[in-house]
Amino acid sequence: MSDYAGLTPQPTAETQPYWDGLNDHKLRLQRCADCGKFRHYPRPVCDACYAMEATWRQVSGRGRVHSWTVAHHPFHPGFKAELPYVLATVDLEEGVRMIAQLRSVAPEAIAIGLPVEVAFERATDEVTLPVFRKAG
Ligand SMILES: [Zn+2]
Repeated sequence: MSDYAGLTPQPTAETQPYWDGLNDHKLRLQRCADCGKFRHYPRPVCDACYAMEATWRQVSGRGRVHSWTVAHHPFHPGFKAELPYVLATVDLEEGVRMIAQLRSVAPEAIAIGLPVEVAFERATDEVTLPVFRKAG
């Protein structure tokens, strides 16, 4: 039994490869089989060329902070123990934006463009969540 008290996702057929990758400590993204553009969040249609087909590619997990917010109030009781925490929007090297908690950086030390990399935190027996940490 996990001590994790926050919310966890309900994987779907569309998102299962993403969550399987996280459980293996790999960040995988959909890549359009037609034009090659990466997609995130997982979805059935490419937003560039409307092709349905995609493959899953392991990516670096490196990116730069696009924006962030510091949560001082829990939006769910399960997150109360983590307060305050940082939610960051990160521009990944592959050209997509991803949201996750940013760890190991004091809020006053965060800046737009800060290099970060993905890390993995086991939430439950079934779910591993991505987080970002300062790169290097
Ligand atoms: Zn495409």
